[in-house]
Amino acid sequence: MKYDFAPACALVQASQNILIAGHVSPDGDTLGSALGLALALRSIGKQVTVAFQDEPPQHLRFLPGADKIFRPDQLSQQPDLLILVDCATLERTGDGWIEAYLPQVPLLIFDHHALRDEIPAVSLIDPHLAATAELIYWFLQAIEVPLDLDIARCLYTAICTDTGGFRFTNTKVHTLQIAAELLAQGINLEEMRIQLFESRSMGHIKLLGLCLSNLQKTVDNKLVWCGLDAATKKLHNALPEDIDGIAAATMQLEGVKIGMFFDERAEQGVVKVSMRGRDGYNVGKLAAEFGGGGHYAASGCTIPGTLAEVQPKVLAAGKRLLAEMEARI
Ligand code: 5GP
Ligand code: MN
Repeated sequence: MKYDFAPACALVQASQNILIAGHVSPDGDTLGSALGLALALRSIGKQVTVAFQDEPPQHLRFLPGADKIFRPDQLSQQPDLLILVDCATLERTGDGWIEAYLPQVPLLIFDHHALRDEIPAVSLIDPHLAATAELIYWFLQAIEVPLDLDIARCLYTAICTDTGGFRFTNTKVHTLQIAAELLAQGINLEEMRIQLFESRSMGHIKLLGLCLSNLQKTVDNKLVWCGLDAATKKLHNALPEDIDGIAAATMQLEGVKIGMFFDERAEQGVVKVSMRGRDGYNVGKLAAEFGGGGHYAASGCTIPGTLAEVQPKVLAAGKRLLAEMEARI
């Protein structure tokens, strides 16, 4: 195996009380990695607590252990090891709660983001991987914890969601080999597909419909975007989980290269921008221009201001990236 898991194994073996945390607005990868790792470490006698600042979205609450996730303010015990999964920066864990443990508590990081902060830690990071859960899978082999069905369901969820159901180009031969091993634990694919892709709230379906019917684009279809302003969200009582996943809809139009989704969060005075890009269009870099980050093909940033203020600036940057790419062809 190309990773050196020895320092991570040593850290885990020397610890008894382990806290695992992931990122805000948790997705399938951060939740599946955290919960799968928690189950595995409990099976070798560790005391493990999983904590996230935000609630898991409704469609991921079926994950084993999702009902036992702690909020930061519910934590009392000091862990002897902190593990972060799928977080490119400490800020991604939320509003400063994680910093309270550092540097006294040793830190172990599993991640697959290319654009990262330097954080002093034992780190297992590979930006070529589709999902953090692939690293967790190999780590479990290194630390000799056997898989079981519940661990497999967690890791499969993580990999399946971060590869868009094994459709994105981050799906490699090893990704499918890992998925096959996970499936061999007895995963019910019908249940999985329904949970992950066909269990959305009525709110999501309605807002998705609204966004699709108001989709905007450049004349050549290359930049496609839609936005939800605060008034519309209020009118529809939109929950954060209703909004999750709408960004993907911008990538369905023929000829699209860059998709953007703008979510006005008036309570915080910010706009959350989700970006998606086709091969050759590095939206990770684009989001980083606005203080965000993510991956080459899927990224995001959170920008202070209203939708009317933020959207034109980000669209202009998107058009600049399109023009740069045109100039190269
Ligand atoms: P989504 O658009 O699905 O919320 O996020 C896509 C990816 O972009 C995430 O997996 C994450 O890596 C990154 N991302 C999203 N929002 C932010 C943000 O506000 N800051 C940073 N640094 N990365 C983000
Ligand atoms: Mn991920």
